[in-house]
Amino acid sequence: MRDAAAETRPVIVSTRGLTVEFDLRHGARRKLRAVDGIDLDIHRGEVLGLVGESGCGKSTIGQTLLRLLRPTGGRISFDGRDITVLPERRLRPQRRRMQMIFQHPGPALDGRRVVAKSIAEPLEAIGLPRAEIRQRVDRMLERVGLPLAFGARYPHELSGGQLQRVAVARALVGHPDFVVADEPLASLDLSVQAQVMVLLKELQAEFGTSLLFITHDLAAAEYLSDRIAVMYLGKLVESAPAAGFSARARHPYSRALLDSVPRMDPALERARAAPVLRGEVPSPANPPSGCRFHTRCPLAEERCRQAEPPFRQIAPEQWAACWLVPGTGPGETLA
Ligand code: SF4
Repeated sequence: MRDAAAETRPVIVSTRGLTVEFDLRHGARRKLRAVDGIDLDIHRGEVLGLVGESGCGKSTIGQTLLRLLRPTGGRISFDGRDITVLPERRLRPQRRRMQMIFQHPGPALDGRRVVAKSIAEPLEAIGLPRAEIRQRVDRMLERVGLPLAFGARYPHELSGGQLQRVAVARALVGHPDFVVADEPLASLDLSVQAQVMVLLKELQAEFGTSLLFITHDLAAAEYLSDRIAVMYLGKLVESAPAAGFSARARHPYSRALLDSVPRMDPALERARAAPVLRGEVPSPANPPSGCRFHTRCPLAEERCRQAEPPFRQIAPEQWAACWLVPGTGPGETLA
């Protein structure tokens, strides 16, 4: 996904040809390619929504950008520095500038420590004086809408929504440059989801943090993001500005995802015209030939089975990989 023409902010995180493979336990020499040659640019202060069904590789990308997983191919740079193969010791100072919010806050919070201690960890890592740490933790608790007294509670004494607020506080208290939020709403009740989403948007704007927002929920991505990238089976299939994404998306997979978003109005829900996604995502261990979406695409034709469509520009600030969506490059006409 190339830079949007109108985007003038410097790039903070960038990948070129990012590939992540896992060994298949029983398949001698067989690999599962979870991420396949992804180019991404995330700008300072930008929210990039990475959208797709579970198993498409979006969480693997998030973990690899933070170098929690090692890429098997391609390059990752963070603030202009190549961190693809940086050894752990030299990676540590960069890691302090990145944080992760998980779907389940558990991994970030130690069940034996009161939550104020967990929130304080990133500040202790940068060696701030104790009084300042305490002040910043208290301020952050207030900022995420939790009473100060909650700082003295243990994780098991908090509800799911309160725990996710603590996880957000912990991720942002050190004002990191880059945060990966991996399905941060998925484990929450609907009413709490909306609150945490608004909180994330406010804090991201306030701190100017660059955010990779990983979600299967296109409506949430449209609300929270500046740009949206849609992934299918380890590949990007479309990217475009989030504003008006539901009107401008052209790739059949993006359209199908949009048509799967439940409508509030029951009449509209009944009148849903376009086909909703059918079938399961094929196994990334054995992806379909040609366009990977052809086994589920209602518009698939012979060439879709034969050859993989290029990821090409189809409109200003918009790219897609589909044979039926003409590109705007030389020799191509805009549909
Ligand atoms: Fe569907 Fe073919 Fe486009 Fe793939 S290339 S999304 S199969 S129409």
